[in-house]
Amino acid sequence: MSVLPIVCYGNKTLREACEPIDEITDEIRALAADMSETMAAFEGLGLAAPQVGKNLRLVLVNARLFSENPTGAAVVLINPELTLTGKRFVDREGCLSLPEIFARVPRSDAVTLRARGLDGEAVEGEFHGLAARALQHELDHLDGVLFIDRVSKAVRALLGKRLRALEELSKTGWLRKLEDEVEETG
Ligand code: ZN
Repeated sequence: MSVLPIVCYGNKTLREACEPIDEITDEIRALAADMSETMAAFEGLGLAAPQVGKNLRLVLVNARLFSENPTGAAVVLINPELTLTGKRFVDREGCLSLPEIFARVPRSDAVTLRARGLDGEAVEGEFHGLAARALQHELDHLDGVLFIDRVSKAVRALLGKRLRALEELSKTGWLRKLEDEVEETG
């Protein structure tokens, strides 16, 4: 397993719709394992395949959102689908592909999830609050949507300078790498 670099805002991979996964191959399992390690290393609540440069309908969500006593690092969801069943609630959101950018984003406070797990098993459930928010955020990635698309024009304008800087950086081919973020310890 390895920690993968993160594709950031300004890279067109984040804006493309993702392909469904027809067959869970060894390559998919290896990708999910690498994504799990990547999410843990960057301390993310979730990670979608386009964030590591793969336009596939695959997301990972931190297991602690799904269980009070998680046994694994990540819940793997293949071809996930959501039905929004709750009321609108607004809370702060960030994204590994938009480092140091945060905004308050409206979401549904409840969702019904249907997906497949890594062994092809059906994964279904109802989720609320932060888990519902994380699922909506990650599934948006599969359709090329980012949380900054869901804020008001005024908020977006406030973020404009940082977004443009990140966009320029991504256009040079820059990827977010863990080793650039780990402090030197001498
Ligand atoms: Zn994200």
